This record gives sequence, C-alpha cells and structure tokens, in this order.
Amino acid sequence: MSSLVAPVHKVIPGTGFVVDGFRHSQPAATAYFLTHGHSDHYAGITANWCAGPIYCSHITARLILHLLGVQPQYVHGLDLHKPYVIHGTEVTLVEANHCPGAVQLLFRLADGRKFIHCGDMRFEPALLQDPHLAAFRGATAIFLDTTYCLNAKYTFPPQVHAASNTFSPDGAVCHQQLFLISTYVIGKEKILFAVHRSTGLRLYVDETKWGVLSCLGYGAQLMRDTFTTDPAASPIHVTGWGFLGDTWPYFRPNFTNMEAVRQQYGAQRVVGFCPTGWLHEVRKTLRESGSFPVRHKGGRLQVHLVPYSEHSSFPELQEYVKWVKPHKVIPTVNVEGAEGERKLRSMLKVFGALVDQTAGKAALLAGMVLKRQGTAGGRVSEGYGKSKVEVMELEDLEEQDSD
Ligand SMILES: [Zn+2]
Repeated sequence: MSSLVAPVHKVIPGTGFVVDGFRHSQPAATAYFLTHGHSDHYAGITANWCAGPIYCSHITARLILHLLGVQPQYVHGLDLHKPYVIHGTEVTLVEANHCPGAVQLLFRLADGRKFIHCGDMRFEPALLQDPHLAAFRGATAIFLDTTYCLNAKYTFPPQVHAASNTFSPDGAVCHQQLFLISTYVIGKEKILFAVHRSTGLRLYVDETKWGVLSCLGYGAQLMRDTFTTDPAASPIHVTGWGFLGDTWPYFRPNFTNMEAVRQQYGAQRVVGFCPTGWLHEVRKTLRESGSFPVRHKGGRLQVHLVPYSEHSSFPELQEYVKWVKPHKVIPTVNVEGAEGERKLRSMLKVFGALVDQTAGKAALLAGMVLKRQGTAGGRVSEGYGKSKVEVMELEDLEEQDSD
C-alpha cells in the first residue's frame, strides 16, 4: 500500500501519484498531476516548488509558469489523446470541457486497474466520442467532480446556448453604453468569443488579462482580432471576477464600482454581465420567466446574471457515470470540512445504482478466498499474490463507503 497521506480523492491507488494535491509534503509521491489552472487545484505550488515533477496539459503548464513562476524543470506539459508511461503506469489526458487546458486523467496500471480522474469537468455528450475515454468504460473507479451532485435542481442550459444569448437581453451594442463582463483569471472564455462573434467588436482586457489569455493557445491573430488592451477602442470591457458584485452566497451588485467606471469613460449607461451557474435567483428567474435575472440602479446601471457553468449539472453527472459504469465513484468536491463525511455518504448513495456493483463484489469475494488460502499454509502463488494486493486496496476503498 502507498504511504501517501493525501486525502483519498487525491491519490491514485497502486501508484505514487497525487492529483491536484500540492499543499502537503508527500515524501512517498513519485509524481504530481494538475488537472487545470484554477487556484483551488494548484494551491501549494509556488515559485519554490521542488517536491517532484508536475504533469499537466501544455496550456496549464504555460499558465503555472506564467502565474506562479515555478521552476521549469518541475513542469511537464503533455499532449492530449496520447498515452505516456510514467513510473510504469499508462497516463492519457483527455478533454474536460472546463476551462482552457483542463483535462481528465486516465490511469491504466500494469495490473489492469483503470482510474479516471475528472478534475473539474462539464459533461457534454461529445466527450464520449473520445476513444481513449471509451476504453475506460467499466473503470475500477472514477474520481468525479461532484460540485453540483447534491441538488437535483442544479441544471444549466448548454454552454453554447448561454454564451450565444449573453447579449440578447439588451439588444444591439451601442457606443454610448459601456458593457462589462466579469470572468475568472481563466475560465468562461467561450462567452468572450461568443460576444465578439455576435457584435463584431473587440473586447478590452487589461495587460494582466492579456498575459493570461496569451498562455491559452489561441494564437496571435485570434488574440488581436478578439481582444485589445486599449480601453478607448471598445465599449465592451472584461473585468475581474467580483468587480460587478459578490456572488456568494447570493448576488450583491457593486454599483459603486460600476458608477466609477461610468464616470471614468463618460458613458450614459453601464450594463454588466456576470456569468455564473451558482445562484439560486438565476434558476428561479429562468424557471418563472424564461429570462436572465437583471438588477438595476437608477436607469444608468444594470447587471445581468447569466446561467453559465463549467461544472456538470446533476443530470449530466448521472449520464456520465451511467455511461462509464465504473466499479466505484469517488467524489472529489464537497467531501472536506465539517460536513464532508455526511455529504460523501449522500453522494455515494446517489451513484449507488449506477456503478457496477457486481464487479466490486466479485473482486471482494475473490479477495476473501485468497486471504483464506494465504492463511491456510502460504500456498498463494506469486501471480495470485499480485491479485491479492489489488483486492486489498479495493477493500480499503470499500471501507470508505461504510463510514
Ligand atoms: Zn476549476
């Protein structure tokens, strides 16, 4: 068994691999994997990182070099859809439909076990066309992005629908108005490109945002066609997340920021767009009126909340797990903190009917037989011995269920 001390949802059984776990020293780790460049996943990586090699997509590699100043010898960018052998385990990166550079990790161990680590993922049916992913149907376990697992009401319109409708509530762009779109450091770029396509206008980003966007592999021409660093060149400005207001636990618009910008640029009106999948009021307004919620102040300031998510909704998670039919689901979100154990039990119940329980029980049974043989006189062959290790680890995983 591995002596890694990271949480179970960050460790790939039978390997020394840690996924999205950089906060704690892991002397037994042989390699670290980063699924994507969001701070809650790379937390712990600093310019002084020296704990071991970090494997990720090329885009994520460029991002952490740019944002965190990690020493390049520790960062290994990998191609998508190409199997690599790392410490005897085959590793393949496939698309996660989350932010740019986000991947799901496919681990195929020498003993035949297969693990999928989703990182953060927004399911869409097109993902299932990937032959590498299809080869992992019936996986030993799937480490699943369960951000929206516990509430069946979390459903979002498809991303393309949300992105293409971002400007529709307000009609045509007018130069006497200033439009603000808030985004994370990375993520939700599809909305920016959709706005550019629908308006034909470039979007203003500051130098910092330009630097980050330049890491994402769009190419110099597309960057110049879509974005500008001259605020006077566009009525559409990209702002940081939180500039238009706080979003958690409910949306509170920041009209002070918006009024300051209105005066700075001499606009008659400022219209903000906040793309989020988190908010109760977004779901409620959409359900009741079929439109996005809008907050106003004095006719000069308004904010539209756009239901756009880069995580899977609950029905999407169910569809994905049903398709993979793994032996086990290992939730990776909402499992830590005081409420973690209770939520974990609830989530495992949710997926209980979708996993291949037959395979898990067969392995468990085989393990019990092997154990009896082992204690009855040490007659377990070397080959069976390898299987025994596998089953013992499966049993350890099973114990997590009964906590
Ligand atoms: Zn993320």
